[in-house]
Amino acid sequence: MKALQKRYTDYLDQVIGEQQKTTKQHIDASRRYFANNRNTAGLSSTMKQLTFTQCIQSAEGGYVTDVDGNQLLDITMGFGVHLFGHKVDFIDNAIKAQMDKGYALGPLYNDAAAVAALLHEMTGVERSAFYNSGTEAVMVAMRLAKAATGKNKIVIFQGCYHGTHDAVLAMKRDKNDYSALTTIPGVTENILSDTVLLDFGSSEALEYLTQHADDIAAVLTEPVQSRHPEWCNKAFLQQLREVTEKQDIALIFDEVITGFRTGNAGAAGHFNIQPDIVTYGKVLGGGMPIGVVAGKARYMDFIDGGGQWNFDDESMPTSPMTFVAGTFCHHPLAMAAAKATLEYLQQHDNSIQNALNEKTQQFCDQLNQFFEQQGFAIRLTCFSSLFRFIVKGRARYLFNALLKEGVYIWEGRNCFFSTAHSDEYIAALVATIKKV
Ligand code: PMP
Repeated sequence: MKALQKRYTDYLDQVIGEQQKTTKQHIDASRRYFANNRNTAGLSSTMKQLTFTQCIQSAEGGYVTDVDGNQLLDITMGFGVHLFGHKVDFIDNAIKAQMDKGYALGPLYNDAAAVAALLHEMTGVERSAFYNSGTEAVMVAMRLAKAATGKNKIVIFQGCYHGTHDAVLAMKRDKNDYSALTTIPGVTENILSDTVLLDFGSSEALEYLTQHADDIAAVLTEPVQSRHPEWCNKAFLQQLREVTEKQDIALIFDEVITGFRTGNAGAAGHFNIQPDIVTYGKVLGGGMPIGVVAGKARYMDFIDGGGQWNFDDESMPTSPMTFVAGTFCHHPLAMAAAKATLEYLQQHDNSIQNALNEKTQQFCDQLNQFFEQQGFAIRLTCFSSLFRFIVKGRARYLFNALLKEGVYIWEGRNCFFSTAHSDEYIAALVATIKKV
């Protein structure tokens, strides 16, 4: 079997090496001065020739064209950013219009306030604040929860991804130990001392929250884990909502992936569960860097002292404050793109996401039926328009074999459909997957 595997990787090395010769030359030439861990993700001696990021010259609709001139089917879609595909007129026009007006930082253009108002209308959040990435939004959300509750600990769940802030880069120590274990050089034990890891969906997690409520500021969770879309558990989310409400623990939904993808009101709307704080990113930035913290005024008021005061009277801010800031916060180009994106989604009243989510489900059902009929140890799982291949052992070569056939899937393996993925496109993709 080993010999067969070696022959197959040699074959892939040779074909892909030829097809993407220029890309590989670019990557090799860039290594000395450009530190980029995307080029070492999953590296092993057997996979060395196949471990590299795609280098592209352009992107349009559902395709990217690499520097070798290959047109690749893109189902990575900017890690879930590009809900409308690449080069979208209504977003490009909004960015160009803002560029014409300059993109000064310091003084404010009006779009940020308009985006906050749109978020209120579409999701029901009381207030919003704008940052540059999902990571930053998660960091601020945790700070607000600690400030408002006066408590220290943040509970997260094994398997969730919340970006690269140190406090969330942790693993569960072992089955019965809820303290966070660091596995990443540079993320020290001390910085994780306020992080607790529980198992999503477990009754032990709910018991833990009740027993340790006096120390817990927040429960931070993806409503559905992007790495495990099959762990969709509305009942558990409802139980989390009940326990946290009772115990003055902030419930934070990290909707960086599910926000505006599940529907206009995100997974919170889909499950009809209102968190205290929610983080958004990706889709609503229309391709520009963005992270949003939004939610109840009780928490958000710690940013600015509260919104209910006016010039020309005796009123003053009423809330204590924490500290948050950033040179690029509510960047004018990101705000222009976000405003255009949200207005477009609002006008279409969930019809875009409903159609896309249904398409994704059909795609998965169709291929799962095929995998089952063929007896292949491969399954597709999805939530809204995110999907993942569940593969084990040798089936992992699927991703390299798909690249050979011109399908681009990034190394984190979350795949996304966008409105640029037409029925014909998806039919071609299905045929390619079956062939592979
Ligand atoms: N939260 C979730 C659920 C995410 O999926 C991500 C990124 N994929 C982040 C937070 C971090 O966002 P960013 O990469 O913009 O920092």
